[in-house]
Amino acid sequence: MHLKKIEMHGFKSFAEEVKVEFEPNITAVLGPNGSGKSNIADAIRWVLGEQSAKSLRGSKMEDVIFAGSSQRKPMGIAEVTLTLDNSNGQLPIDYNEVTLGRRVTRSGKSEYLINNSVCRLKDIEELIMGTGLGTEAYSIIGQGKVDEILSSKATERRLIFEEAAGITKHKQRKKEASRKLEKTEQDLNRVNDIIGELE
Ligand code: ATP
Repeated sequence: MHLKKIEMHGFKSFAEEVKVEFEPNITAVLGPNGSGKSNIADAIRWVLGEQSAKSLRGSKMEDVIFAGSSQRKPMGIAEVTLTLDNSNGQLPIDYNEVTLGRRVTRSGKSEYLINNSVCRLKDIEELIMGTGLGTEAYSIIGQGKVDEILSSKATERRLIFEEAAGITKHKQRKKEASRKLEKTEQDLNRVNDIIGELE
């Protein structure tokens, strides 16, 4: 799987619709300070479900929307779409090419999309779980991340290996199944109480 394309419109400094295409192998993005290189990495993390405005170098989520410049009015909506090559089937979805999108308006309306269909953040998280793409995974190594990994506790470092080994999604499913079992047990207890009252 590889990232083929990013399309950004109204995201941070990208007021105009900007399309960045990535060929396989290495792509380097060069530009002067403040020209928007890190904003591209922010756009990727944002689509993949980043919820922390601080991690995106803002103070609130609205800060991802183009705030205006001397020549241009602020925008009301930010939209980013990633196109992933899935010809190796790493993403559990029956398409060779998958698009993931996210948009947010100033009024706070927010939407996630898979292949242009509106979905939940959970659907995106489940789709990318175990592929290394998640916001907490290792596909984006930001400044300071290597130091952070080296100095983190063994249990925290283990999560990175678990993601690489594809275990995360099974752990998540186990957690959900345990939660459902617990709920069912409580429901059964309640039913038994009612039966006891009726007898
Ligand atoms: P450096 O090489 O210094 O790390 P860079 O190329 O990575 O720089 P970025 O940090 O990606 O640059 O971009 C910073 C620019 O993005 C700043 O000029 C900032 O004003 C602009 N910017 C960030 N958020 C917005 C926004 N919401 N609206 C308009 N411009 C924005």
